[in-house]
This record gives sequence, C-alpha cells and structure tokens, in this order.
Amino acid sequence: MKKIMLLLVAALCIMPTTAAKKSKKIDFNAEAAAVYDQMVEFRRDLHMYPELGADLPRSCGKITEILDKAGIPYIVDSQMNIIGVIEGGKPGKTLAMRADYDALPIQEETGFEYSSKIPGVMHACGHDIHAASLLGAALILKKHQAELPGKVYLCFQSAEETGGGSATMIVDYIKSQGGADGAVAFHTYGMNIPHGTYAIRSGKCLAGSIFWKMIVRGKSGHGSSPWLSIDPIKPAAEIVLRITAMQSTMFDTNEPFVVSPCMFNTSSKAGNIIPEEVTIEGSIRYFTPEHMTAVPERIGKIANDVAASYGATVEFLPGIEGSNKPTINSPEAADRATRVVKGLGKEVVEKVVEMGSDDFSEFLYAFGGIYIFTGIKMPDQPLNPHHASKFNPDERSIEDNIAVFCAYAFDHNAEN
Ligand SMILES: [Zn+2]
Ligand SMILES: [Zn+2]
Repeated sequence: MKKIMLLLVAALCIMPTTAAKKSKKIDFNAEAAAVYDQMVEFRRDLHMYPELGADLPRSCGKITEILDKAGIPYIVDSQMNIIGVIEGGKPGKTLAMRADYDALPIQEETGFEYSSKIPGVMHACGHDIHAASLLGAALILKKHQAELPGKVYLCFQSAEETGGGSATMIVDYIKSQGGADGAVAFHTYGMNIPHGTYAIRSGKCLAGSIFWKMIVRGKSGHGSSPWLSIDPIKPAAEIVLRITAMQSTMFDTNEPFVVSPCMFNTSSKAGNIIPEEVTIEGSIRYFTPEHMTAVPERIGKIANDVAASYGATVEFLPGIEGSNKPTINSPEAADRATRVVKGLGKEVVEKVVEMGSDDFSEFLYAFGGIYIFTGIKMPDQPLNPHHASKFNPDERSIEDNIAVFCAYAFDHNAEN
C-alpha cells in the first residue's frame, strides 16, 4: 500500500513536468515554412535594389519597417547597423545573431527575373539571403518571446565587404549593454552542397587578413642612364619575390599563411622615365596570433634590407582599412550547431578551412560562437562563384536558416 502511494506521488510529480515540457516544444521547421514566402519577397526586393558599404538607406528602411510591424525594438547607428533586441520571458543567456546586408560593385548577369535594377551593383555574396534568414528568425522569436530564455540581439551589419569597422561598432554596442554569451551567423557556402545541408567546423574556419601598402622611393632619371638615378623598380620587384617566398624559409610550414602583392604601380608616365617611386599594395592571410605580428614585421625587414642594398628607401604601412581577425569557431558552439541542425532533420558536413576572411571574427573574439556555412547549390545547375556576375544561390536555404537560427537561440540561451 505504502509502495503504491509512493508510486502515485512520484507519478503526479513527474506528469505535469513532462506534459509542460512537451507543450513547450516548438516546431521551428513549420514556423520557418510559415514565414518563408514573406522572406523570399523581402530577399528579392533587397536583391533588386542592392546598396553598397555603409550607405544602405533603402535596405535599412525595408528591415526596420518589418521590425516595426513586429514590435521589435532596435537602434540604427551612424554606419546603418541595425541592432534589434528580443528579451525572452524566461531567464537565460544572451546571444548575438548577425547577418550582413551590403552588396558588391558588380554588374549582374544571372538573368533572374528579380535581377538587380541598379547598374553595376549586385548582391553577389548572398548577404540578401543572410538578412532574410535573420529577419525571418526575428519574427518567430518575437512570436515565442514568452517562452524564449534570455535575450537575443538581432544584428543587421553594414559594410562587411568594404571594412570600416561596422562589426566592431556592433560588438562595442552590445558590450555597452552588458555583453553576450555567444554569437552565431550564417554565410552562403561556396562548395557544392544543397540547401538544408550545413558546413560546420570547430576551430580555424576563415583566415585573418591584413591589408598593407608599401612605397619604395628612389631618384628619378632618364631611362638611358640608370646609373645616374636610383631606380625603385628593381628593389620593388625583388621585394615582391622575396616576401612571397619567405614562408617556407622563415616560418613553420605547418601553420599556413599567404602574402599576396596585388597592386604594383610606378610614378613614371613614360617608357623612358625612371620613376621616383613604386607603390605596392597587397594582403596577408593568416590564422595564428603570432603571424598577425610576425609576418608584417618580417615583410618590413626584408623590404628595408632589399631597398637599402639599392640605395632606395621604403615606407611600409601594414594594417590599413579592411583588415580582419581570423574566424575561429569555439568547439562547444560547433557541437551545439551540429546537434541543433541534426535535431531539425538537416544534414551536416565538415567545412574546409579557407583563406577568405570576414569581420564576423570580431563577434567571435568578443563573445565566442560559430560561423555556420549554409548550402546554396541549386539541384539542376552548377554553383557559380561568389563575387561574380552569375552568382546563383538557392534561396530555399532561407527557410532552413530561419529554423536553425531559432532552434540555436533556444538551445544556447537555455543552457545552464
Ligand atoms: Zn563577400
Ligand atoms: Zn559575404
């Protein structure tokens, strides 16, 4: 009898909890499907009227119009970053969710019915898809605000392609509001995986980048008598060869980096004038904090030594605008993302390490988290490259991304 009573009490204690837990389970795939059409319409509109850098008045207006209608509070800063916030009805952690929304100076040649109507400007990196994914997630998280643990920041970021510190501005704003416990973002993936499949990687994901400029100065003169001048072209050419070959001789080749001089201009205006100076501009891609300082230092030393041997001088300017830190995903966030994606019935593959870079790294340095790559290959055609006039992502990834964003936010924020 006593045993039966105890069992009854135990059952009564368990039942309400189990029932309550069941009723809380939100079907994020179904929720995403419900807002998908609206988000495709939004995405196609953004795609038809792309804007550049931090000058995004129309796109910003479209996003804030939808946030206003949903009753989601936000601020817009001087760089047209939009930062919305949803305070959940339950205690929990804080997550920064980011989508960039700037386009590129490219003439679109896809032939899509919703092709860009702005000559020479195109969403050729998928940032329109990123923005639609975050906006769709915002609507669902707002709808389930009472059940949401913690807080989410909805960060629509300008000027990812051009640099200029937009990511840092958002991070600083969130820090000023008390910070975040993690960050998450999507980027359309350049490999051949379809929508509904995600590329996730723990640790090294994208490289850091340092843009640099170098001015090699000599003494101009007549092309017929170079011995009377100091020709800066010869040391500049030698510097280019030396700095692009230095990795294997001066650094551990197990830790890759790339030095790419991409512009080489002389001040000469004719084939018989030895110029006064040569300007070289390029970038470094790297992954380790040591390389962030050691590689530019070594370039500067090589340049000075080479220039001096010709009687020329060098001014080396590393770290000019557009530089990014490496994108390093935290292992816990990679595990969580994998679990969340699989929990929604979607696929996960391992992302390859790439030498490209992205300023989402600022979020990861500040708060930790994960950059997730979303499949966009259309089933019936090859995927054309990002940053090219025929870039053809499958917009159906928006629906998948919305569900993943929402499920990730609930999972992350609820964790003790
Ligand atoms: Zn891009
Ligand atoms: Zn991009």
